[in-house]
Amino acid sequence: MNPKWNGQFSCFDLVAKTSERSRSVVQVGDIEIGGNDFVVMAGPCAVESESQLLETAVAVAEAGARILRGGAYKPRSSPYAFQGLGVEGLKILRKAREVTGLAIVTEVMSEEDVDLIAEYADIMQVGTRSMENYALLEALGHCGRPVLLKRGMTATLEDLLRSAQVIAVSGNPQVILCERGIRTFETATRNTLDIAAVPVLKTVSHLPVIVDPSHAAGVRALVPVLSRAAAVVGADGLIVEVHPCPEKALSDGNQSLTFGEFRRMMKDLQPYLDLEQEARKLRPQLLAVGGAD
Ligand code: PEP
Ligand code: MN
Repeated sequence: MNPKWNGQFSCFDLVAKTSERSRSVVQVGDIEIGGNDFVVMAGPCAVESESQLLETAVAVAEAGARILRGGAYKPRSSPYAFQGLGVEGLKILRKAREVTGLAIVTEVMSEEDVDLIAEYADIMQVGTRSMENYALLEALGHCGRPVLLKRGMTATLEDLLRSAQVIAVSGNPQVILCERGIRTFETATRNTLDIAAVPVLKTVSHLPVIVDPSHAAGVRALVPVLSRAAAVVGADGLIVEVHPCPEKALSDGNQSLTFGEFRRMMKDLQPYLDLEQEARKLRPQLLAVGGAD
């Protein structure tokens, strides 16, 4: 352990790495997040229609994704933008699970919606804007589903771990952390992917860590290379936006991959995943932070 972090996060005792607990696996059906597999979640930013979601679900499953993403309740920067289909969107997600067997991850924005969304979702997503919504985090403590906790766009890693601890203390230890880019002075990308967050979080916490290259980049051209970077720094998986026709998407079209681009990205990722598998065996020597296991 790098002495800089020695003890810094130990107050978050349920999520901090200890000698007894170095790694936790979040189980979703037969999928293990934080285990030896690199788990890819993919799908549109928002559920827009049954045909849009089903087509996407089939395409991402064929390309190797294990989990389908899609927002039914959308937090938008503008009150005039598409806000999601709500319950209708949840029903479409359920149908996509029946058709493809993919597990479902979808966002919950309010503590009032937790029970409803937990009926449809396999993983409850907390978005960047909600990372410090403590009423929501506490309600997720007893939702009976794993939680995908996205880093707030202005949150430090300590803030992220504090929110994870709130969910765990409220009764739910099944938390997956997600680095999705933070606000910096840089404007060429939508956010700045803090790639160092992955090895730091894997060093100080036992929780699984995934990367969202789509919201970090804001443009689809960068998504494959950021995904490869995530794979080699030891992330446990990705959450990626994919749309049948990105230019017609109701949200986040610029950063959404086409089916063909997603297929190619998954194929191109494989040598990097193989490299990471080798690195896992030698991790103490290869990871800059050292001693991550
Ligand atoms: C999303 O996943 O579509 C989303 C809104 O993500 P974030 O909360 O990271 O902006
Ligand atoms: Mn989005």
